[in-house]
Amino acid sequence: MQNNKTTVERLIEALSRNNMQGIYVEKTADIVKTVEAMLFEGCVITAGGSVSVKESGVWDLISKPCYEFFDRTRAGISEEERLEAFRQAIGCDFFFCSANAITEQGELVNVDGFGNRVASITFGPKKVIMIVGINKLVKNIDEAFLRIKSTAAPKNCVRLGIDSPCAKLGKCVSLAKSGTPDITDGCDFSRRICASYLVSGRQQEKNRITVIICGEPLGY
Ligand code: SF4
Repeated sequence: MQNNKTTVERLIEALSRNNMQGIYVEKTADIVKTVEAMLFEGCVITAGGSVSVKESGVWDLISKPCYEFFDRTRAGISEEERLEAFRQAIGCDFFFCSANAITEQGELVNVDGFGNRVASITFGPKKVIMIVGINKLVKNIDEAFLRIKSTAAPKNCVRLGIDSPCAKLGKCVSLAKSGTPDITDGCDFSRRICASYLVSGRQQEKNRITVIICGEPLGY
């Protein structure tokens, strides 16, 4: 844990250089109260699909009736209502998600199939709050895309019941080729979840993005 803390201190400094706020919490159980202190009654909230947001208890927190949460996953939601939840991200107060990977240089790396999450990270919500377990920390952008191809994408396909090649192989088809694959190398599958690629480096708007880094693993 001491090594983790030293690494995390450097990560928080790197995020700060990139105009993003980093907050470290040691335990998953500490995340909810950290988030709760940022919210206000009646605030408008949207969220990307995220195992980390759910595992941390934050999804349950933002579902409380004192907040106006557009829940894209609620039971019985129609496709039009789901798309409306995505559109509500424009101008909402808070957008919650995780990252597929975070580099030691304080870069956030994300890949989407539909694109609503990378759109919201880039522009729209007034504040973006990311819940990121220490398992997602990688050395650099190359390692970030390797992590996505070997861990995040295959596991998310299995979770979502998407019958992609990586769900069967346990890794992206591009990793079967020799050498390092290009970032966008992958399958021709109709429901490919790797379509839009985003690296968030130094931001113009200071602290619009907050990253809550948890000392315990979360999500994929
Ligand atoms: S490109 Fe296709 S096979 Fe590769 S990780 Fe993405 S969904 Fe899986």
